[in-house]
Amino acid sequence: MGAIPAGLQVCRERIAKACAAAGRDPRAVMLLAVSKTFPGAAVREAWQAGQTAFGESYLQEALAKLDELADLAIEWHFIGPVQSNKTRPIAERFAWVHGVDRLKIAERLAEARPGEAAPLNVCIQVNVSGEASKHGVAPEEALTLARQVAALPRLKLRGFMAIPRETDDPAEQRGQFARLRGLFEQAAGLGLDTLSMGMSGDLEAAIMEGATIVRVGTAIFGKREYI
Ligand SMILES: *Cc1c(COP(=O)(O)O)cnc(C)c1O
Repeated sequence: MGAIPAGLQVCRERIAKACAAAGRDPRAVMLLAVSKTFPGAAVREAWQAGQTAFGESYLQEALAKLDELADLAIEWHFIGPVQSNKTRPIAERFAWVHGVDRLKIAERLAEARPGEAAPLNVCIQVNVSGEASKHGVAPEEALTLARQVAALPRLKLRGFMAIPRETDDPAEQRGQFARLRGLFEQAAGLGLDTLSMGMSGDLEAAIMEGATIVRVGTAIFGKREYI
């Protein structure tokens, strides 16, 4: 077995084990393969091993890959920061956007989403660690933004996303994910179903706190040369 199918298998096993430990159904946790910086051939190899949802962070790189892999029925997720002058191609070409953190961005995505397409699935990114360098809305502003985004046409607000402070301490990992889950519970009236949290280093903690999408790059594709 090649390295990528093997990496996928290890991830699926980690997810299954974490779900068993958390008393959760593994079908309730989706594995999003984060292919940023890796070539189209790597995505194709993962696809052949059964992976159908992929995440990208850099728009130019992503669009080239979407074109190259147009023969595959991939569900593409945009997981990077969304710049307001790049909303159109994102709204036209992706099924999901995880990094919405301002109303203006959501409005522009709604405006640019083609009427004949299915609604664009969006998550609101929350800065759960409060680090100045991190994107995301402040936790205390997240519910207001969620209500505003939920009211927009052509978007379907699915839930919240976070990239917590990196730490090897499982208790601190869980604490940060628990903050996101708390917001999700407070937003119960909005009919949300998604907590996008957990990456290669902390997916177990995220699943313990209710993650429904884990975004995994390194553990599938290997170490990235940049970012
Ligand atoms: C790169 C990236 C990931 C994947 O991180 P790994 O540690 O390689 O698994 C997940 N989410 C976002 C938003 C990313 O930018």
